[in-house]
Amino acid sequence: MSVSFIKDNDFKGFVTALIKSKPVYGPVAKRSKFVFGRLETPEELRLDYDVTLLPPKKLFFPTAQDLVRFDGNRYEGCIKPEEKVLLGVHFYDVKALDMTDVLFTEKNLDWNYMAHRECTTVVASNIQAAAPRSFWASIAPEVKPKGHDAFLTKVAGGYVYEARTPKGEALLKQGSFAKASDAQTKEAQKVNEDVLKKCPETLRHDAKAVASKVRGSFKKEELWAKFAEDCFSCGSCNTVCPTCYCFDVQDAWNVDQKSGARTRYWDACLTEEFAVISHGAGAGHNFRKQRGDRFRHRFMRKSVYLNEKLGGPACVGCGRCSTACTVDIADPVRVLDAVMAA
Ligand code: SF4
Ligand code: SF4
Repeated sequence: MSVSFIKDNDFKGFVTALIKSKPVYGPVAKRSKFVFGRLETPEELRLDYDVTLLPPKKLFFPTAQDLVRFDGNRYEGCIKPEEKVLLGVHFYDVKALDMTDVLFTEKNLDWNYMAHRECTTVVASNIQAAAPRSFWASIAPEVKPKGHDAFLTKVAGGYVYEARTPKGEALLKQGSFAKASDAQTKEAQKVNEDVLKKCPETLRHDAKAVASKVRGSFKKEELWAKFAEDCFSCGSCNTVCPTCYCFDVQDAWNVDQKSGARTRYWDACLTEEFAVISHGAGAGHNFRKQRGDRFRHRFMRKSVYLNEKLGGPACVGCGRCSTACTVDIADPVRVLDAVMAA
């Protein structure tokens, strides 16, 4: 696929044309933080963001999503995906999307997720500012992002736009792009290499060593209980995580008692009731009642259980969990350092 260049002066026109052609989502400021939101004007786009509060998965797997609406014996599906562009996704969030793609398609294809995913053109962008608790440079660098359609890099005088799929190529006609020179292409490569040196936190252990040690620490109950001593079981570390994908499904009935909707909601394995069995002989039993058990489960999922399916850990080093945790106990760098030393 092609590598193109667009001048700073023409970039606003490109984003304006995209907004006119279909819904465009990208990082926008929300008070002192950033979120992925729908762009109304090109000025709202903040490619200089460090990290967003929630990851971009919310566009494909919303926090609350009606699956089916019913009325007596009649029912209808609710999948109504829109053609859209998602601009400005950092590479660690692309890696997380790649993982979610695998997890939602490996056995029973999740049509809700895939329908939204397939109608979206994802344009990644280089990291211009590093979030203070991030460690994306050091966690599984061998796992490369691949689920994006184009990659945008800020260089002197404009942006280098690398189209990686026909969908990414198709956006070129919306802007005044020219073929990138060799010097511009090299500059973009250097920008993306140099930012790795500016990542504030570092995971000093490779993924295989971590997987082996975390698995081997499963029975160290006291260690996990100690980590979780101050845990509120609020689930924030799950909620902000780009690779968490657990959900709950609930039916809500209207007052007529014959119509309603089946809705899925994000769930969180750190919350106390997550592992309560709802039906059958074991109904009411909570098989992860202790905070330490739930804390351990999160690290088992991130560092061990999912590795084989995903080809690496289910953590991309965004640092959102570290920032979201009120008592600052969720940081994978610190927890894994302590597990490796135990
Ligand atoms: S575990 Fe934390 S650092 Fe890793 S991907 Fe999830 S939120 Fe980001
Ligand atoms: S964010 Fe912190 S306090 Fe809340 S569940 Fe996670 S580890 Fe516990």
